[in-house]
Amino acid sequence: MTALAPYACDPSLSRGRLHHEPPPVGRSEFQRDRDRIIHCNAFRLLEYKTQVFINHEGDLFRTRLTHSIEVAQIARSLARNLGLHEDLTEAISLAHDLGHTPFGHAGQDELNTCMREFAPDAGGFEHNLQSLRVVDTLEERYAAFNGLNLCFETREGILKHCSLKHARQLGSVGERFLMRQQPSLEAQIANLADEIAYNNHDIDDGLRSGLITIEQLQMLEIFATHYAQVVTRYRNLDRQRAISETIRAMINTLIIDLTRTTLEHIETHRPDSPDAVRRSPPLAAFSPPIRAQADALKRFLLDNLYRHHAVMRMTVKARRIVRDLFMAYLNEPRLLSATWRRDTAVEQARAIADYIAGMTDRFAIKEHRELFQMGGAQI
Ligand code: MG
Repeated sequence: MTALAPYACDPSLSRGRLHHEPPPVGRSEFQRDRDRIIHCNAFRLLEYKTQVFINHEGDLFRTRLTHSIEVAQIARSLARNLGLHEDLTEAISLAHDLGHTPFGHAGQDELNTCMREFAPDAGGFEHNLQSLRVVDTLEERYAAFNGLNLCFETREGILKHCSLKHARQLGSVGERFLMRQQPSLEAQIANLADEIAYNNHDIDDGLRSGLITIEQLQMLEIFATHYAQVVTRYRNLDRQRAISETIRAMINTLIIDLTRTTLEHIETHRPDSPDAVRRSPPLAAFSPPIRAQADALKRFLLDNLYRHHAVMRMTVKARRIVRDLFMAYLNEPRLLSATWRRDTAVEQARAIADYIAGMTDRFAIKEHRELFQMGGAQI
């Protein structure tokens, strides 16, 4: 690891863990967090959770696990370029989607709708908050505490967004939302690495699926520029290599632009500590022209891939499965094992949300079949 910049988070100056533990031997506090995340159940379940394409649609498509690893790779490159703490950035990246439901955003939106509709006092469902809930309470691996007992800095990074109502209940990790402050630069970088990763791998997966085409993508400046460079430089290159080289060049451009722009912001605001970073405006950012190109790409993916009728057909089914499971458990909690039963209505709704959020795509499909179809017919 290169030398830490003064604005980087230093593990020896961490704000600490919720439960006191002796310092680790042979690794830093942030390394210990990264290691705990890799060993937890929720991390392994990401392998069978949808990113855009349902897990069983093809072996080459990204899952939430490979997505999280790609985010960590990009975030580490950025952290090294900027003198930030690489292990902290990696820990935040690997944990950022731990609270994701089965079936991607469709599952999350439906779970939130169900919670608001049928348990209005239970506080809805936010996947960011759920990731924090996984590492703070839901994992049961350690003798002395629930959750993974991660450092403040890792938890701060996991909680990307949060409603003000929830922020008030979260203690120190929620304070920045009330004070309108930023998280550490490690967290800001992990957040933008997430965006770089999904924009680029969704192009790759979208092209592989045939739902979007190179011709459509040529309308986007960021794709067209890099694609033209690749096919000019390498004539007669086969399609898949041309796509891979284009995406590789796009990721590179985004990382270089983000590094340069962030360094300019650091130069302007001169934060001399992570707390000075928190008090500054957001420092990690793309330059305005690249931001505009990335936004155009996001809009394109939303209109042409995420809302493609083939994806929507899956989305509608996914929402129905989540809703059916939620209603079945809520109406008849005895369908749940004793571990998931609670005494009050609000606690029961929350436990059902936790249970469904923890499901993989294939488990949710199987459970739905078992509850709703005699003889377990295929859906
Ligand atoms: Mg993500």
